[in-house]
Amino acid sequence: MRSKDLQQRFMVDSCDTRGHLVQLDDTWSEATARTDYPDTVRQVLGEAFVAATLLASTIKFDGKLTLQVRGNGPIHLLVVQVTNEGNVRGLARWEQTPTSSELPIAFGAEARMIITIEANKNAEPYQGIVALEGDTLAAALQTYFHTSEQLPTELYLAVSENSAAGMLIQKLPAEERTYHDADGWQRARVLSETLTNNELCNESAETLLHRIFHEERVRLFDAQSVQFHCSCSRERTDGMLYGLGKQEVDDIVAEQGGVEITCEFCDAHYCYDTVDAAALFKGLPTSETTVGTASAESSSKAPTPSGDSNSGTLH
Ligand SMILES: [Zn+2]
Repeated sequence: MRSKDLQQRFMVDSCDTRGHLVQLDDTWSEATARTDYPDTVRQVLGEAFVAATLLASTIKFDGKLTLQVRGNGPIHLLVVQVTNEGNVRGLARWEQTPTSSELPIAFGAEARMIITIEANKNAEPYQGIVALEGDTLAAALQTYFHTSEQLPTELYLAVSENSAAGMLIQKLPAEERTYHDADGWQRARVLSETLTNNELCNESAETLLHRIFHEERVRLFDAQSVQFHCSCSRERTDGMLYGLGKQEVDDIVAEQGGVEITCEFCDAHYCYDTVDAAALFKGLPTSETTVGTASAESSSKAPTPSGDSNSGTLH
């Protein structure tokens, strides 16, 4: 048995190749606990959870990375967000059940993948937009790496009943290569392709890497944790309502007796009665009422997932 929910970096020195492994159990269970995703949607969402975590593990950043796929097919939005601390959340929205999780069928022909990196400090956000090429998220991301970093990169993504897992390998930049074996990268690819989905989801990093690279020189670094965690909070919801303005909030309260906002990532409910709503605009703290029962979204400006920090999103 392997330990749960981790990301782990490794080097295949003899192939001048670096790699990352991501294995999600509880994270993936929590991400899918509240929504009855059809299998095809679940497959592509699981791949996106792993792909976004792999992507985040390849870069040094202090903030959050958002992977979005938008299309005009049966699934019109998929979004996964990962912070540098390994907090992951995400969701998919679909209008019809796609007949396949192949990207052109699931998202339509015009789909685009948008990768945004927002730093906690004042740095400008980075945004990369990629047309979806290929049938799988792994193929689309390989194209992304090829154009953005110009380093040969391969991704392997697997989703099972209880886990979502993946591995990324990347040829080292020329200045970091030490073995200079002309066949090294090709060998790393061929060996990695022998990985099965079952191994990716169920075996420990040590077992996996030993199985595929036992004739190579491999170093495995310390694992880091990954967890499902949503960044929504009462304070952020206060801010969002404050942004809507007193008139609009008063109108909702008058019409519906209060305001209830449901976070679409984690299903947390934030309720405001007449007193809470009035306190918002007097600079007074509102009562901490988070209830666990589901009810219809009453705000006309429902929080929508997006990488744009200026929208009405709960961050
Ligand atoms: Zn939330």
